[in-house]
Amino acid sequence: MKIAVIKGDGIGPEIVTEAMKVLDAAAAKYGHTFHYTQLLMGGCSIDAYGEPLTDETIAACKENDAVLMGSIGGNTTTSPWYKLPSHLRPEAGLLKLRKSLGLFANLRPCVLYPELRAACTLREDISVKGFDMLIMRELTGGLYFGERRTEAVDGVMTAVDTLTYNENEIRRIAVKAFEVAMKRRKKVTSVDKANVLDSSRLWRKVVTEVAEDYPEVTLEHALVDSTAMQIVKEPSQFDVMVTENMFGDILSDEAAMVTGSLGMLPSASLNETKFGLYEPSGGSAPDIAGKNIANPIAAILSGAMLLRYSLDLNEEADAVERAVQQVLTEGFRTADIMSEGCHQVSCSEMGTLIAQRV
Ligand code: NAD
Repeated sequence: MKIAVIKGDGIGPEIVTEAMKVLDAAAAKYGHTFHYTQLLMGGCSIDAYGEPLTDETIAACKENDAVLMGSIGGNTTTSPWYKLPSHLRPEAGLLKLRKSLGLFANLRPCVLYPELRAACTLREDISVKGFDMLIMRELTGGLYFGERRTEAVDGVMTAVDTLTYNENEIRRIAVKAFEVAMKRRKKVTSVDKANVLDSSRLWRKVVTEVAEDYPEVTLEHALVDSTAMQIVKEPSQFDVMVTENMFGDILSDEAAMVTGSLGMLPSASLNETKFGLYEPSGGSAPDIAGKNIANPIAAILSGAMLLRYSLDLNEEADAVERAVQQVLTEGFRTADIMSEGCHQVSCSEMGTLIAQRV
């Protein structure tokens, strides 16, 4: 199986190295071979080729089954990368890559590990129940990609943004949501604003149609405002949540925040095939880069998602997730999640411990 690897900038190379260590442990245990192709994107690509993402890198990504990525970018005030025009900055590479690969579904699992409950920002009677939800956000349509303009209307400055979805765009993300739910607890919450928006009413209709093909999955519809409240009131009720671009942008940050541990959160962006790009939810953390103290767990769990969603290796993905759970239960912590009575380890030690438990 072929995996493109973009280690990126800052802590990217450190955490992705650990993710590869864990993937190799899974490969050894289950009798697979992963062939890695290392590629440059972001600041390191600017330094090497004068642009954040070359066409050759895009073509090389497409030749692989999936892309495992670290994070890109540097210190936005001091790094010379941020003196370049915006289309040549590190983040421009990421947007171009997502677009070139047709990645329309963004998956962000938000899990509260019992061992890290103290970091959860919710009241204890809520956090004690734990949660394991996955927010699936439509990534290429909706309000962020609709027609927009700012103009004077009768002498008054007026700005317009448009929220457009066609039934095909809704259907393909709904299908992804149900497929992912089949690999989890078989519940989908479709989030919209159908009491106000036409685009939401079409969204609800199409999602309901798609649900007929997945009789084992329970579907519920919820309004975005009430969902925002439910995430902080009773997050344990959610499994897969599917929603349009802007609602997903907001809800996924809210859900990430309540876990309290950014270094723990993986993400995946998928296209219509099984191809996907897997990366931690956090950034390149230039403040701690090169010190071997970053938390590699988000990158390692991104590797587990790659196994599950692009390579269909569910047992292997389970083994990686169980190994992460086990090191936490045994009391090993990187600096960012350290608490009293636990044993602090470096980034590379954490990777080795997880690989050993796989
Ligand atoms: P950040 O997520 O890099 O860092 C925020 C804080 O969280 C920092 O204190 C950092 O040390 C800490 N942190 C993040 N990941 C960690 C980990 N794995 N282990 C331990 N601590 C961790 O956000 P930022 O500082 O706002 O951005 C830094 C750079 O990253 C910027 O150039 C930004 O554009 C870029 N960025 C890239 C991506 C991406 O590649 N997808 C996403 C977000 C930000």
